[in-house]
Amino acid sequence: MRGLAVGDHVVVCWMPPCGICPSCLRGAGNLCLAGFANMGTPNYRYDGADLFGFSGTGTFAEESVVAAGCAVKLPQDVPFEIGALIGCGVTTGVGAAIHTAKVEPGSSVVVIGCGGVGIAAIQGARVAGAAQILAVDPVAGRREWALRFGATEAVTPEGLTEARQRLTAGEGFDYAFEVVGRSATVRAAYDATRRGGAVVVVGAGAMDDLVQFNMFELFFNEKRILPSLYGGTDVLRGYRTIIDLWRAGRLDLAGLITHHVRLEAVNDAIAQMRSGEALRTVIDL
Ligand SMILES: [Zn+2]
Repeated sequence: MRGLAVGDHVVVCWMPPCGICPSCLRGAGNLCLAGFANMGTPNYRYDGADLFGFSGTGTFAEESVVAAGCAVKLPQDVPFEIGALIGCGVTTGVGAAIHTAKVEPGSSVVVIGCGGVGIAAIQGARVAGAAQILAVDPVAGRREWALRFGATEAVTPEGLTEARQRLTAGEGFDYAFEVVGRSATVRAAYDATRRGGAVVVVGAGAMDDLVQFNMFELFFNEKRILPSLYGGTDVLRGYRTIIDLWRAGRLDLAGLITHHVRLEAVNDAIAQMRSGEALRTVIDL
């Protein structure tokens, strides 16, 4: 692989940009589908049978075989556990605020869903200079994290309508980030946004979950619906932005890691994520 040497540290990228397709050439390497071919290639064997790693990465393992483009060189001063965060969630959340929404200084922001990606979106909005950042999550612990990482206020989903009225004089937020991946919360984000504002869809939803907007509101309110996939920009540019902001002390990435487990306890890590007990769990070998 060009630019890599034995012993280099790498981030494992689950959707590697090819660098030469039309999407890559227009700077949208996050939309490059060439790397998806990698997902259809079994990189592993078990008892003589082919095995597929999730998204071609298979990172819940001591060692992994990945396509060359999936290995993105990590500067030596970046610890492995910080690199692990950059591979997906942090790049997705921070990028949604910085690259997709291009949050303006002094603006008002609401973030619905405050797991690891939502907290990263909150940090991105803070770095971009948002004046108000409302965090919305049903889990009390996540609301506390949101406040620690830059939210100016945190409410339950039931409190969103009141907070919108109070914080924006009923106009709605300049930007609403949906970081859950459900039609109901996309609808809530749309309703929380001011006319002419931006609804940023970050959550990964299901193919059979349909969201409804009527044709009149879609036209008349001029709310921009901005989906954001993997940080909304070229993946390598996204990684670099995160690392530069982390080095400058503008992003708190170490603070996102609330739990460590050994590889054999990987199921505990998944359970901690689902319950909201953990923000990010790092698997140590
Ligand atoms: Zn490409």
